[in-house]
Amino acid sequence: MVLADVHGRPLRNLRLSVTDKCNLRCAYCMPEENYVWLPKGDILSFDEIAQIVDAFVAAGVDKVRLTGGEPLLRRDLPYLIAHLAAKPGIRDLALTTNGVLLAELAKALRAAGLRRLTVSLDTLRADRFVSIARRNDLHHVLSGIDAAQAAGFQNTKLDTVVMRGVNDDEIFDLLDYARDVRAELRFIEYMDVGGATRWTRDKVVSRAELLQRIATRHGPITAIPALDADAKSAPAERFALSDGTVFGIVASTTAPFCGACDRSRLTADGSWYLCLYAKLGIDLKTPLRVGESTDQLRARIERVWTARTDRGAEQRLALHDERGALLGDEDLRRDPRLEMHTRGG
Ligand code: SF4
Repeated sequence: MVLADVHGRPLRNLRLSVTDKCNLRCAYCMPEENYVWLPKGDILSFDEIAQIVDAFVAAGVDKVRLTGGEPLLRRDLPYLIAHLAAKPGIRDLALTTNGVLLAELAKALRAAGLRRLTVSLDTLRADRFVSIARRNDLHHVLSGIDAAQAAGFQNTKLDTVVMRGVNDDEIFDLLDYARDVRAELRFIEYMDVGGATRWTRDKVVSRAELLQRIATRHGPITAIPALDADAKSAPAERFALSDGTVFGIVASTTAPFCGACDRSRLTADGSWYLCLYAKLGIDLKTPLRVGESTDQLRARIERVWTARTDRGAEQRLALHDERGALLGDEDLRRDPRLEMHTRGG
């Protein structure tokens, strides 16, 4: 029997943050100067991660996505990937990275058993990369994408957070680049979540506007129907251009998809969040460290999931004109787990 929440949504997709640290400071996630980091001693070891994942798999999870912060900053990550890839219950193991360290790690990630990659890429201009991410690393990201292809990764996704007046003049260049490197580009609407303390509605380029602008340039766009469970619960809607180029749009801000959301997030210190907008998490580290068995953890996870009602993005949308940034600096100082870079986007 599939474990479902109050809205009938299955527990299937776990986003697993392996570190809250990042080597970039993207404006839509980490715009501030200083951050409160998770205490080192609270960060789960690989063995602890493996045990918690076993409990999630026993409860129904079969898709795991490794995130951060920037997951490639976690030392010996290929060792953890090999461990997770060997678990028969995990049907899909993926990773989201900012690509800065990808060139040197692509082969090892592939050899460890990682099969799917998503790379964040918000611009193709080095100067703009510096203004968005406050680091001069675009060349590293582009060579990382090439290295991933060379290492055998296919169907790589490229995620672009579109912000009006920042990078929305590059949507066609990014589409062309993705086509040239045989990757699939996903435009992500700028979200008012976590560290996006400077979010305003006027900076959002909506799904509707993106489709209208792309159709003006490339002609009619065909929506690709979501045929299987994976596609139906996936955050990105997919579309095709007349030349066969496929792209996606993640419209969490203007057209939320909470109805089919099978995702939850575990922070690097073992706090489980049932929704990206959730303000409270469930501590799984403490029961683990006081000796709870995998089966006891599974039972705890099942109890929580079956009571899940979260539909955060829909509630945000319902605020209409009242809508501003979800959190302020002081909220984030008080609880760093509210940060996007701590719960892994
Ligand atoms: S806002 Fe929450 S419930 Fe809605 S899709 Fe995102 S994580 Fe799922």
